[in-house]
Amino acid sequence: MATKRNATAPAPSRRRPAAPIAPENLNPYEFALRQFGRAADFLKLDAGTREVLSQPKRQLIVSIPIKLDSKKIRVFTGYRVQHSIARGPSKGGIRFHPGVTLDEVKALAMWMTWKCAVVNIPFGGAKGGITVDSKKLSMDENERLTRRYTSEIAIVLGHDRDIPAPDVYTTPQHMAWIMDTFSMTQGYSTLGVVTGKPISLGGSAGRNEATAEGCFVAIDEAAKRMRLPLKGTTAAVQGYGNAGSHVARFLEEAGVKVVAVSDSNGGIFDKKGLRMELVNAAKKERGSVTATRGEKITNAELLELPVDILVPAALEGVITRENAPRVKARIVAEAANGPTTPDADDILRSNGAVVIPDILANAGGVTVSYFEWVQDLYSFFWDPEVVRSHLERTIRRAYEDVAETARRHDTDLRTGALILAVGRVEETTRIRGLFP
Ligand code: NAD
Repeated sequence: MATKRNATAPAPSRRRPAAPIAPENLNPYEFALRQFGRAADFLKLDAGTREVLSQPKRQLIVSIPIKLDSKKIRVFTGYRVQHSIARGPSKGGIRFHPGVTLDEVKALAMWMTWKCAVVNIPFGGAKGGITVDSKKLSMDENERLTRRYTSEIAIVLGHDRDIPAPDVYTTPQHMAWIMDTFSMTQGYSTLGVVTGKPISLGGSAGRNEATAEGCFVAIDEAAKRMRLPLKGTTAAVQGYGNAGSHVARFLEEAGVKVVAVSDSNGGIFDKKGLRMELVNAAKKERGSVTATRGEKITNAELLELPVDILVPAALEGVITRENAPRVKARIVAEAANGPTTPDADDILRSNGAVVIPDILANAGGVTVSYFEWVQDLYSFFWDPEVVRSHLERTIRRAYEDVAETARRHDTDLRTGALILAVGRVEETTRIRGLFP
C-alpha cells in the first residue's frame, strides 16, 4: 500500500525566486516554432523557406458522432495534421486525451517531421488526435470512436500517403481497428496503412517496447560520453505507459536504481529503488503505480528529485521556466514529446544538464514503425533480434550525427538535432522545387 509522504520522502525545494516569474506561453505549437526558429537561424534559411517549413501541409478537423452504450449520441472532435510529405508519406501517432487541441496536434506533427529526418527514415511528419477522456468510455465505445474517426480521416490515409501509429491512450487494439476500418473502405486488407499493430495482424516484433528501447540506447550514449557508468546511478520516470514503463524496466535491467515512477494519479518514491515487477503488478491489479509500496509524491515533485537520470514520459510542457531551476538530473531523456519548454531548455543547459531531445530520445518508436511498414509491404517478417539490432544501430548513429552537428555549431543537442533534421528536410524541399 502506498503511504503518505513522510520525513524520509524527498522534500520539494523550498527555495522560491524573489520575483514572481512571468507566465510562460505553454502552447506547444508556439514552442515548436521557437525551436524551429533557432535551427533556421543556424541554417540561415530565407523567409520563404521558413514559412513553408513552419506551416503544416494539411489540417483536417472532423466531427465524430458515436452512439454510447446508453444509446445516447455524442459528438467528439478529431484532428489529423500532416506537417510535411517532402521526404515520403507522413507518419505519426494518434492521441486520445481530453487536452488534445489543434495546436497540440500541429506541434506534434512538426516534431514528427524532424524526428523522421533525425533517424533518416523516408517519412514526413503527421499526428492525429481526438479530444476525449477515453478512459471513461467502454471498450465498445472506444471501438466505435476509433472506427468512425478512421472513416472520417480515411480520405488522407494510405500506406503511401499517411500512416498512423499509437500515442497517448491508444494501443495495438486501436491500431487493429484502424487497419480493419480502412481496409473495409478499400475492399481489401491493407496492412501498411497503420503501424503499432498486434503481431498477428502484421505488427513488428519489438514495436511495443521500441520507443523505450531507443530511449534507453540514447541514455546509454549520453552516459558513455559523460563517462558516467549507468550501473549504480538513480533515475525517475514520469508517466508509466508504453514509453515510460519499458524505459524504467530497461534502466532497472542495466543496474540503474529507479527511485520514482508516476502516472496520471501521482507518483511513488523509494530511495532504495523500486522493483518494476511490483510496480507492474500494482498498475495491473490496482490501476495505478501509486498502489505500489513506497512514499507518495506528486508528479511535480518527481521532476525535482535528486536523481542522475530524469525521464519525462507523459505529456508536453511539464519542465518550465518555473521549475527548471530545481531540476537536479544530469541527464534529461525526453521519452515524451515536448516536455521541456524553450526557456526551461536554456535553464537546464546553463545548469549543466544534458537534455536528450524528444526527436532523438523517443525516435525508436517511429524507427520500428518504419521497419513494420517495410515488413508489411514485403509481407516478410523479421526476427526480434534483427529488429533490435537495426534499431540500436539507427539510434546510435543518429546520436552520433546529432552530437557531431551540435559540436560543429557549438550548441546543445536539441538545436543540433533540429539543425540536422531541418537541414535534411530543407534540402529535399529545395531539390524537389515548388509546384507549379
Ligand atoms: P500511454 O498512453 O501508453 O501512457 C501515458 C502515461 O502517462 C500513462 O501512464 C498515464 O497515466 C500517464 N499520464 C497521463 N497524464 C499524466 C500526467 N498529467 N502526469 C503524469 N503522467 C501522466 O502513452 P505513451 O504512448 O507511453 O506516450 C507517452 C509519451 O511518449 C507521449 O508524449 C507520446 O507522444 C510519447 N511517445 C510515444 C511513442 C509510442 O510509441 N507510444 C513514441 C514516441 C513518443
